[in-house]
Amino acid sequence: MAHTSDGTVWGGDKRALVHLVGERGAKRLEQLDIHSPRDLLRHYPRKYFHRGRYTRLRDLVSGEHATVMAQVKGIEDFKSRNKRLHVVKVSITDGDTVVPLTFFARRPYMVDYIKKQLRPGTSAMFSGQVKFYAGHLELIHPDYEPLPAAMDEEEAARRAARPVPVYPATAKLPTWRISDMVRLALEPLQPSEVADILPDEVRQRRELPGTMAALHLIHQPANDLDWQAARRRFAYEEAFLLQTALARRRAEIAARDATPRPGTGDGLLAALDAQLPFTLTDGQQQVSAEIAEDLAGSSPMQRLLQGEVGSGKTVVALRAMCQVIDSGGQAALLAPTEVLAAQHARSISHLLGPLAEAGMLGGDVRGTKVTLLTGSVTGPARRQALADAASGASGIVIGTHALLEEKVQFADLALTVIDEQHRFGVEQRDALRAKGRTMPHQLYLTATPIPRSVAMTVFGDVEVSTLREIPAGRSGVTTYLAPAGQQKWMQRIWALIAEQVAAGHRAYVVAPRITSTSLEDDGAAPLDLDGPAGPDAPGQGGPVPGDGGPATVEDTYARLGKEPALRGISLGLLHGRLSAEEKDAAMAAFASGQTPVLVTTTVIEVGVDVPEATVMVVLDADRFGLSQLHQLRGRIGRGSAPGTCVLVTGAHPDSPSVRRLKVMTETTDGFVLAEQDLAQRREGDVLGAAQSGRGTSLRLLSVVRDRELIEQARQDARALITADPNLVHHVEVLTAITELVDPDHEEFLDRA
Ligand code: ADP
Ligand code: MG
Repeated sequence: MAHTSDGTVWGGDKRALVHLVGERGAKRLEQLDIHSPRDLLRHYPRKYFHRGRYTRLRDLVSGEHATVMAQVKGIEDFKSRNKRLHVVKVSITDGDTVVPLTFFARRPYMVDYIKKQLRPGTSAMFSGQVKFYAGHLELIHPDYEPLPAAMDEEEAARRAARPVPVYPATAKLPTWRISDMVRLALEPLQPSEVADILPDEVRQRRELPGTMAALHLIHQPANDLDWQAARRRFAYEEAFLLQTALARRRAEIAARDATPRPGTGDGLLAALDAQLPFTLTDGQQQVSAEIAEDLAGSSPMQRLLQGEVGSGKTVVALRAMCQVIDSGGQAALLAPTEVLAAQHARSISHLLGPLAEAGMLGGDVRGTKVTLLTGSVTGPARRQALADAASGASGIVIGTHALLEEKVQFADLALTVIDEQHRFGVEQRDALRAKGRTMPHQLYLTATPIPRSVAMTVFGDVEVSTLREIPAGRSGVTTYLAPAGQQKWMQRIWALIAEQVAAGHRAYVVAPRITSTSLEDDGAAPLDLDGPAGPDAPGQGGPVPGDGGPATVEDTYARLGKEPALRGISLGLLHGRLSAEEKDAAMAAFASGQTPVLVTTTVIEVGVDVPEATVMVVLDADRFGLSQLHQLRGRIGRGSAPGTCVLVTGAHPDSPSVRRLKVMTETTDGFVLAEQDLAQRREGDVLGAAQSGRGTSLRLLSVVRDRELIEQARQDARALITADPNLVHHVEVLTAITELVDPDHEEFLDRA
């Protein structure tokens, strides 16, 4: 990416860095993944301090390395017991909390030096390890930097407005040392050495400062507007590069030849439509039309269909499959697990009815054959499946990773449908596509509502279709909040379960943990939205078990076994530590009604369907993300009886957690909830580890805050790729996007 005239400063290398900051400095910078002056200049401040605005010391978290701005309140010194060390005790304050610091000095002059620098009343930055000790917070091994006093009033005013950058730092390299080093790198920098990656017209249209100016503004701002403008510029640059990379990938695929599959007016698709027991919703019709048009085109379709569980994606995907079959092609559906593959095969065969029995007695002549191919299909059945796929006898082949094996061949693969695509890597998806004679059209399905800004960042190269409405005929779910620890409420909840079970229904009781000793929440556990000790973390309001920890499956199972209201009702137990067979057995016993109440973690597979389930009780619901709660409650009210979801929380009624949970009672729109979730998360949580740390990708860009900016960058990127598909006139953009670490940005969804 480095575009330099002489390669010494801006592009730079390790030697240039050593030249600037010395061997030792360079070594310490290495720990921050900084290996050149360029890396150093791209090491942006994490935030900015302001004189007189002190850090809230009581928000410090034990165990963290923290940098704070505070005022010296008092200082005293004495000799250690063995007289070999001088001890200097300094107390700092934000005007509210007081935090002690301890320095050890070997020589008396060092004591004097500290006392001179940290006179009471002095403002300074302090950094050190936070420790909670004997009932109060302390900074261990502190390091400090007093803010220089002003010479005159004018300078004092200027200094007061000047934000102080705070860099991501290490214990050995406090932020103010990094500031000094950045200054060393910045000073000799000539504008001619810094190429601007953004095309001029884009920069002007979006009113962004140039790279050189922005580097000064972000590292040495005179006021807040300065660094804000600079951040915007660099964030834009990140968005633009990412979007250009995605636009290019999209254009590359679009440039490949696909066989048009327009279908016929009177084939399998028409026959399917004629026998569907319902009319398609407006959304389904619209999305189907978009897909139909893509399939008729001569470049490969790249489309993501998102819609919640039950929104009717299967029928839309099936219609697409029928269209390509009518044009002589085959379709393959790739699912992440055997259970889901089998479920797809069942529901597709069911929708097709006699149309799925081509060649069989009573089968429809326009029909086709649906084949299931998973790891557990073996022996003659497997040989038959392989033969049917290879001969084209099977129009629809459904399977798991087993589909990707080399032995699996198709006569003419026209469409690949990939369910929950984030569970597959790019190579796996490409492996399936490679089985086509020409590049197959590709349709991705996902039941996880993805906020638009994330979709644009992660799936910028595909078109997105969304099914927002749930087909009529569902009885729906009503959601309530219930305070934990109130017997009256809990009694009512258990009574509701008993009543529903008596009526032939089933209930889930979900707890966030398996046992009180399990450190890890169960595999599918939520992201830690509020932090482990957030101000309203459960424990203070009295969570369900009343012992300070989050509710566990084991405790709940034991307690409900003794609950008088549930006497005579068999309970099931399900969590991630059970073997696959035990899990299957637990699910089966629940589905059959043998154990009509299932105490569980969140392991219940998405898409698993027990239509009799009508009650979902979530204990310590504040421990879960909104999207996750939404997924959970999507498992009830799927049959003809309405569902009741009760979110039990021990958090204070006025706390942010409870306000967040209230949204669950107000909307059933998964997209609204996903947006809300997103707004609460930290960036790294959204895009996954690959995005937060290493590499060049997203340092400043926030899919949470920068939605508008991402939209603009996408427009600009697509325009650029249309005008200059191979970027021959924008070599620096080409170099930069080739450097983008990992084209597979989808990791985050695994955690969603
Ligand atoms: P998804 O795959 O998105 O989870 P499905 O396609 O499995 O959803 O649809 C859920 C249920 O709704 C299925 O039983 C399906 O037959 C039914 N369904 C789909 N579309 C409609 C519709 N337009 N009207 C009524 N029921 C529908
Ligand atoms: Mg489905």
